[in-house]
Amino acid sequence: MNVPFLNLKTQYTNLKTDIDQAIQNVISDTAFIKGKYVDDFEKEFAEAYGVNHCIGVANGTDAIYIVMKMLGIGTGDEVITVANTWISSSETITQTGAKPVFIDIEPDFYCIDTTRIEEKITSKTKAIVAVHLFGQANQIQKLKELCDKHHLYLIEDCAQSHFSEYNNQYVGTFGIASTFSFYPGKNLGAYGDAGAILTNNDELARKMRMYAAHGSLVKHQHEIEGINSRLDGLQAAILSAKLPHIKQWNNQRIQHAALYTELLKDVKELILPATRANTKHTFHLYVIRTGLRNELQAYLKQHHIETQIHYPVPLPFVKAYQYLNHTPADFPISYQYQSEILSLPMYPELRKEEIEYVVSTIKDFFAKQ
Ligand SMILES: *Cc1c(COP(=O)(O)O)cnc(C)c1O
Repeated sequence: MNVPFLNLKTQYTNLKTDIDQAIQNVISDTAFIKGKYVDDFEKEFAEAYGVNHCIGVANGTDAIYIVMKMLGIGTGDEVITVANTWISSSETITQTGAKPVFIDIEPDFYCIDTTRIEEKITSKTKAIVAVHLFGQANQIQKLKELCDKHHLYLIEDCAQSHFSEYNNQYVGTFGIASTFSFYPGKNLGAYGDAGAILTNNDELARKMRMYAAHGSLVKHQHEIEGINSRLDGLQAAILSAKLPHIKQWNNQRIQHAALYTELLKDVKELILPATRANTKHTFHLYVIRTGLRNELQAYLKQHHIETQIHYPVPLPFVKAYQYLNHTPADFPISYQYQSEILSLPMYPELRKEEIEYVVSTIKDFFAKQ
């Protein structure tokens, strides 16, 4: 049996009629940039979240940058984020002119360790970019309290957590704004690059929409200089076709995660993912840990099971951040976990037999040690 890490083909096959029609509609209407399909998706996504504004943008990275830039974050400022995440969460801080300040992760839930934040807050700190990594909700209430106390903006990076919940409330509705990626492999994925920002703040929404469109809300009236970051019509129409299915897809991921956990729970060499109490973890990724990570990954590969590592090097230790001169002692958990974490195949269309095969192969591996 061959188990890919991710299979986007089955989902397309299941939705072929709707997706093909969506694409055809955009072409027939030549609504490639802006227009009806983008407006519709923005409206649908905002409604699904119960939020006032959705601004479609080119990708999830631009989304974070646009939020910070329009909050006035720039040179001389500091923004706090987490050590183990995709580089979008921190490179956008630098893009604004501000300095990224990394914090280690919680040992159990892989999100920012809220107990280590206050020692890093200075008079220059302007915001926290919280990343709901792997589909897991952050300690968002605690983050909100910290932000209120220190007058910081809370920005939620929801690229891996579409419709994850904290106390029955969607993550992405706690901060001043939240950002989404619709990169094809995300829980809600387009067929190319796409992203969005959600906010309830009218003035911020207006600024962000303007900034993403060359600084103009009315053609040729440039109130400021901006950038070109557009959600395109084809991607918007595809996303509208997929949006009605996201909750079911998330539930399938949750069921797969439960099955992995049930079948692997007696493998004492493994640490399985935990879900924070009173939250809905949507399992963008199912991440296990073992001291024999490289050996296990190689064994699974030999048996045609594809896995990945998220992420092989925590951001403070990648070359781009060497200038910050961090040592492993600054981020002990992230540093330790980088050689232990392994992401198993996970996508809604994954079949029970495939999960059972992955599990039995993992058990074979440990039986041979
Ligand atoms: C995917 C991702 C992004 C960036 O999204 P793009 O659409 O690829 O620009 C940002 N943050 C996190 C945590 C991500 O996983």
